[in-house]
Amino acid sequence: MIEMNTKLKDLVNNLEIGIFRYSLDSRGKFVFANAAFSRMLNKKTEDVLGISFQDICENPEELTRLNTKICSQGRVENEWIGLKREDGSLIQCSIKAVLVKDDNEKDLLIDGIIEDITEHKKAREGLLQAKLAAEEASSAKSMFLANMSHEVRTPMNAVIGMLDLTLETDLTDDQKDNIETAKEAADNLLSLLNDILDISRVEAGKIVLEKVKFDLWKVTDSVGKGLSVLANKKNIQLTVNVDPKVPRMIVGDSTRLRQIIINLLNNAIKFTAKGSVELKVGVASSLEGEVELLFSVTDTGIGIPKDKQQAIFEVFTQADASTTRKFGGTGLGLAISRKLVEMMSGKIWIESEEGVGSTFFFTARFDVSDQLQTQDEKEHKKVFVQGKEPVTKAARILNILLAEDNPLNQKIAVKLLEKKGWLVEVVDNGQKAIDHIVDKNFDVILMDVQMPVLDGLEATKKIREQEKQTGKHIPILAMTARAMVEDEKKCIESGMDGYIPKPIDAVKMYSIIEQVLEKG
Ligand code: ADP
Repeated sequence: MIEMNTKLKDLVNNLEIGIFRYSLDSRGKFVFANAAFSRMLNKKTEDVLGISFQDICENPEELTRLNTKICSQGRVENEWIGLKREDGSLIQCSIKAVLVKDDNEKDLLIDGIIEDITEHKKAREGLLQAKLAAEEASSAKSMFLANMSHEVRTPMNAVIGMLDLTLETDLTDDQKDNIETAKEAADNLLSLLNDILDISRVEAGKIVLEKVKFDLWKVTDSVGKGLSVLANKKNIQLTVNVDPKVPRMIVGDSTRLRQIIINLLNNAIKFTAKGSVELKVGVASSLEGEVELLFSVTDTGIGIPKDKQQAIFEVFTQADASTTRKFGGTGLGLAISRKLVEMMSGKIWIESEEGVGSTFFFTARFDVSDQLQTQDEKEHKKVFVQGKEPVTKAARILNILLAEDNPLNQKIAVKLLEKKGWLVEVVDNGQKAIDHIVDKNFDVILMDVQMPVLDGLEATKKIREQEKQTGKHIPILAMTARAMVEDEKKCIESGMDGYIPKPIDAVKMYSIIEQVLEKG
C-alpha cells in the first residue's frame, strides 16, 4: 500500500481520472487504485488491489504489446486499451504510464493514469463514418457530374456542329434568325454545363492548382484579344494595363488565372452599356521568391447596390432578380472565381456605385525568381480593337486521320474538316489508328479519348513509343467532351500535342490544327 497524507489522498481520490500503481512481480498486480479507477471498473477499491491487468484486459495480445513497449522504452503514451468491467461490459480507455523502481531499487513498478474514452471514441467513430459517407457522396456527385457532362456534351456537339453547318448554307432571313437563336441557346447551355461542373469540382476539392512557369503578359493579351470582339460589338473600349513592377514570368496556374480574369471582364462588358472596361495588374506585396499581385477590373456599367455586394460571390446569386431575364447568366461565375482566388491564397472584393460602375479587385500569390525575369521590364499597356480576321496562309491540303467511334461525331468532324478542303479518313478505335498510320502519311491525327478496343490516350502512348524507332513525330490532337483541366493534362502527358474540346468550335479547331502544324 502507498502511504499518503490525508490531503494528498483526497486529491488523488477526487480526481476524475483513474490513477494506478502496478507491481511487476511474478504475475503482476495493482498495488494502488484511486476511486475513479475503481469506479471505471465498477469494482470496490479493495477488489482492484491484488488483481492483475490480465484479469481485466479484453485482448491479451494488446496487453503483451503494451508490456513490451513499457519495459523497453520506459513509458507509454496515448495508447488505447480495452478493459472488462465487473458486470462484463467493455470500456475503451486511453492510458499513459511510466516504469519506475520501488524504494528498494529492486522491484519494478508501473505508475499510470487511465481514462474511459468509450463515449468519446463512439462519437469519433460516428463522425468518421459521417465524414466517409459525405466524402463518398461528394465524390459520387462529382463523378456523376463529370459523366453527365460527357453524356450531354456529345449530343451537344452534334447540335452545335449541325447548327454551324446550317448557318453557312443559303437561308432566308427568318431561317437564319431562328438558327442563330438556337445556336445562342446551345452555347449558353454549354457554358452553364461547364460552370456547374466547375463549381462541383471546386467544392469537392477535386481541383488542384498547377505550378507552372508562364508569361503573364501573354495571358492578359490573349484574354484581352479574345474579349475584344464582345467589347467592340458594344462599342466599349477595352484596355489592359500591367504595371512595370509586375514580374512578367511567374509560376502558378495560368489556366485558372485566365478563367478568373475572363469571368470578371465578361461581366464588366456584359453589365456596361457604354464607356470602358479596364484590366489592371499591380504588385500588392512581395516576399522572397513570392509575389502577391493585385488585379482589378473596372467598368462604367450599371453598378451593384451596397446590400448585394457580398451576396454576389455566393453560388446562384445575382444582384437583381431581373438580371437573368435581361442579361442571362446563372450566378455561378463569381462563386467559382472566389474559390479559385482563395486557392491562390488571395481575396476578392468589390467597390461599386449604382449607375456609375464597379471595380472588382482580387489578389493572388505566385512564385517568382530573378532568373525568370528579362532585363527590359516596362509598362505593358494595350487598347484592344477588334482583331481583323486572321490572315489565312496559302491553302494547303491536309491529310487527316480521325479516330472517333461515335457516328454522329464522325459526321460532324468530317463535314467541318472537308469544308476546308482537307482530306479525312475515319477509323473508330485507337488500335485501328495505329494500324492505319503504318503505310500512310497523315499530317495530323485527331483522336477521340474514349473509344472501344484501345482508347485515345493508350493509342497515343503506343504511337509515341513506335516513333522512338523512326524518329518521326506525327501531331496528335485530342478531341474530347471531357473538358476538365485534369483531362487536358492527361492528354498532354500521354504524348498528344494539343486539345480540341467538344462540342467542336469550327474556327477554333481550324486554328488549333494550323497552329500545331506551324510548330512542326
Ligand atoms: P452571372 O453573371 O452568370 O449571373 P456571376 O456570379 O458572374 O454570375 O455574377 C453574379 C451577379 O453579380 C450578376 O448576375 C450581376 O447581378 C452581378 N455582377 C457581376 N459583375 C457585375 C458588374 N461588373 N457590374 C454589375 N453587376 C455585376
